[in-house]
Amino acid sequence: MKWPMEACLTPAMRLKRRVDAWTVRLRVMPRHVRVQRMTRKWGSCSTSGIVTLAIDLDEQPVDFQDFVIAHELLHLRVPNHGRLFKALMTTHVPNWRQLDLQRRK
Ligand SMILES: [Zn+2]
Repeated sequence: MKWPMEACLTPAMRLKRRVDAWTVRLRVMPRHVRVQRMTRKWGSCSTSGIVTLAIDLDEQPVDFQDFVIAHELLHLRVPNHGRLFKALMTTHVPNWRQLDLQRRK
């Protein structure tokens, strides 16, 4: 294949690659990563460690993609949105407060 590798990837594959990079950065290991249609949210994280991302997140700007992915993955370490969660978000996604305004679809 001559064209760039990136062009061959499906939206789900591209999103999962970003998730892989973030699991290393955040030192977390989701039990499973799902990419599917979601109507009201861009992502979710279950208490059993399943991270779900909206398939159309792939069409959003990459900084917003990273924000949603980091947010959901950090829930594997902190289940709420308390002070520790916010501090970790600030460490990894310094402009998260701005991006948070677009978090609901
Ligand atoms: Zn959350």
